[in-house]
Amino acid sequence: MTGLVDGKVALVTGGGSGIGRASAIVFAREGAKVVVADVDVKGGSETVHEIETSGGEALFVEADVSRSEAVESLVARTVERFGKLNCGVNNAGIQGEMNPTDECSEENWNRTIAVNLTGVWLCMKHEIAHMRAQGSGAIVNVASNFGFVGSPGMPAYSAAKHGVLGLTKTAALEYAQSGIRVNAVCPGPVQTPLVDNMLIAQPDLAGEIMDSITRRLPAGRLGRPEEIAEAIVWLCSDQASFATGIAMPVDGGFVAQ
Ligand code: NAD
Repeated sequence: MTGLVDGKVALVTGGGSGIGRASAIVFAREGAKVVVADVDVKGGSETVHEIETSGGEALFVEADVSRSEAVESLVARTVERFGKLNCGVNNAGIQGEMNPTDECSEENWNRTIAVNLTGVWLCMKHEIAHMRAQGSGAIVNVASNFGFVGSPGMPAYSAAKHGVLGLTKTAALEYAQSGIRVNAVCPGPVQTPLVDNMLIAQPDLAGEIMDSITRRLPAGRLGRPEEIAEAIVWLCSDQASFATGIAMPVDGGFVAQ
């Protein structure tokens, strides 16, 4: 049976954990060769190991998406190893500190924007340069439901995710006639280390935070990383050939409210 992305080469940033890891695994299951990029060598190598154990082909590249040279060399290594780049999933992200706007430190602002917004732009810049030369490609940026609505206590995160949607739509228009599709997936709360760490950081409030998250979600539960990964891989596949410039919520109904 042919997979959704048979023969394609996919690059997944933040592939060492959570949504990125699940996406790398679904890409491999659906026939793609996968480059897993992350700052976390252990997590990234584990993802590659899991793919190889299931008979897939994958490469780990240590790369910090907020550093231009690292991203340029990441794309170059992808092409060097697998000969092309069909799918770019710009997923690496951090939550940053939880503080309202007036208490948000400049350090937190700068780092959150550097990874979650500049990092996505740098990846797009270098991926698109290669895809234009190649004449085709599909990019999926992982934003958030906080790309649509505000998130009290997370001003830099929310600003970055709103920015990712602006970048996505702009590039979709710029390259619609160059064979390159650019879309965003906007997850709601998903059970990953990003959410776990937020709860660990506030042990006294963990139960209350979890209750308030699930109460606000029409689905009544958190998502699983695989549920986001399936949408990402579909958007990268030829099945989604007329989809470009969209910001797809995969959020248990959160932004429909
Ligand atoms: P996660 O913490 O499980 O995984 C994120 C991965 O990104 C980690 O492996 C981390 O090492 C890597 N990373 C962090 N900074 C990096 C950098 N500078 N360069 C390269 N890699 C880096 O988080 P997750 O929940 O899987 O989140 C993935 C994406 O989904 C993020 O962009 C996040 O904002 C978004 N998202 C998550 C949720 C959620 O509830 N989990 C909801 C909406 C959006």
